[in-house]
Amino acid sequence: MGFDIDIRVIQFPNLFSSINFVFMYVRPLQKTLILILTISVLIITPDIIFSLFNKAFKVSHDIKGLILIIPLSIGFVFNPYRWISVFFISLISFLQIIQFSHIKYFGTQISPYSLHLMTSEMEDVLLEVGNVFLNYIYIIPTVIIPFLLILYCAGKQRRKAAFGTVILFSVFMSVGIRLYAISAPRFTPNEFRFTIDNSIKTFFGYWIILLKNYQVKGYKKYEIIDLKTNIPEKINIVYIIGESVNYKHMSLFGYERNTTPNLRNLAKESNFLYTQGISSAIATLPACKFIANAICEPDNVIQTSMDTTNLFKLAKQKGFKTFYISSQSDHLLSAIGGISYIDIIVTKDSNTLKCNELMDEYLFEILSLQKFEDRNFIILHQRCIHSPYTKTFGKDYKNGNAFKGSNNKIVDEYDNAMLYNDYLIYRMFNFFNKQKEGKFYIIWASDHNELMGENGLYGHGHGYLLPETADIPIVIQSNDLDFLGRIRDLFRPTHYEIAKHIAGLLGYEVKNPNEEKDVFYISGVDYNGKCGYIRLRKDPVAQKVKYSEDKDPTS
Ligand SMILES: [Zn+2]
Repeated sequence: MGFDIDIRVIQFPNLFSSINFVFMYVRPLQKTLILILTISVLIITPDIIFSLFNKAFKVSHDIKGLILIIPLSIGFVFNPYRWISVFFISLISFLQIIQFSHIKYFGTQISPYSLHLMTSEMEDVLLEVGNVFLNYIYIIPTVIIPFLLILYCAGKQRRKAAFGTVILFSVFMSVGIRLYAISAPRFTPNEFRFTIDNSIKTFFGYWIILLKNYQVKGYKKYEIIDLKTNIPEKINIVYIIGESVNYKHMSLFGYERNTTPNLRNLAKESNFLYTQGISSAIATLPACKFIANAICEPDNVIQTSMDTTNLFKLAKQKGFKTFYISSQSDHLLSAIGGISYIDIIVTKDSNTLKCNELMDEYLFEILSLQKFEDRNFIILHQRCIHSPYTKTFGKDYKNGNAFKGSNNKIVDEYDNAMLYNDYLIYRMFNFFNKQKEGKFYIIWASDHNELMGENGLYGHGHGYLLPETADIPIVIQSNDLDFLGRIRDLFRPTHYEIAKHIAGLLGYEVKNPNEEKDVFYISGVDYNGKCGYIRLRKDPVAQKVKYSEDKDPTS
């Protein structure tokens, strides 16, 4: 036989000896660079491995994540004190194991509130961990092995210097200080960042919550009841989240400039409804949370950290194909939630160049590429009419200067953007309302208002809790006249009520035991209540809304 080779020679190549081999033959500077690069890759290796086991989890492609990862690698390479590296590696490993377990269990990256909740209900958590432990055990080597390799690689650097230690501490402390300065509770994990980014921020957010003595309010659990209704075989439910729309500047609502000629035409049809509504928040991010999750309370920390009432989840459970198509950046998905229940996700970040060129017409381009099924649940998320208003037009739009010459340039610019928005909305409605068979529901609601001189203020970004910032238009077209009737019966519908009605179309009742009759909220810029909120009471008989004082639970 010709196979009498010494078996010891052809053993599977030893990983460590191959790394040694590479380092022996490269020059010191190149070697250091290779080490930094290798450690950077090792830091995100758990994300890559975890994504192989969890289809819903996607590895970040956001290069902004490198702002944290590269300095961290440099720190590990140069830090001369091994025990300090061991300390940081152990801490990060621990956080990452909790992070991946959270993603696997809840489908979302861990937030400071969630961590706070887990530690305050340790007994329940441990009980649950005992139940599911075996399914989660692979997470431990997924995290530990790459991090041990980081320690090994860092040991390969000969020339060490104290600045490595300084960098390590600076990376951590800068995250902590920054979060403390911007008030940590505003931090919600960005599902599109590397997990380590969110893990470290959540860790600091958690301590800041403790330092600021934050108490979780004891709300009762929402119940989701399957109504077992017959959902039509063919049905399209489309929710268009508008941006910064002031209904007082729409001719549909009687504005003197004809800023919405197309919508006025649509309004002549019997299947069309438009009304003044009330938004759930004064800013985009929190509004997304309430719009897409049928949550009422502005400080219901537990409900906002779960997907149980998420509209994508409910739709998916009833066999809908689900779409989130947005010309805003994908960080808003952290608030929208239910990512593992969305079949098609396309945001501005999917093709930033194209989106910047086409602006909201990007949405049509993406829509035209989609394959729809019999049942579709679609959220379209607009960027128009966000400021700067003159930059809101797609590249081919020619009518961007139709209104001019008033004594207020901001109003002129805003009205021109409104005219463009009218064209966009009309096209979006026409994309879906031509359906011959089956039911269609097209709902357009702004996320919040844009002040155009009310109280002497402009815009929405100032963060003041002004009731006017929540005055929004709600426009609906549907061939289900009963549904239109139900919405018509609501006096000044809120995001929450609309979301509950959509859940109804999806075959579910969202039963919220915390509801008070006719009481609703307008959240500040944080959807967990840390930036205050307005409580309001609708009086449908007198057709009035009474707003209470601003509430700030931290004061
Ligand atoms: Zn907005």
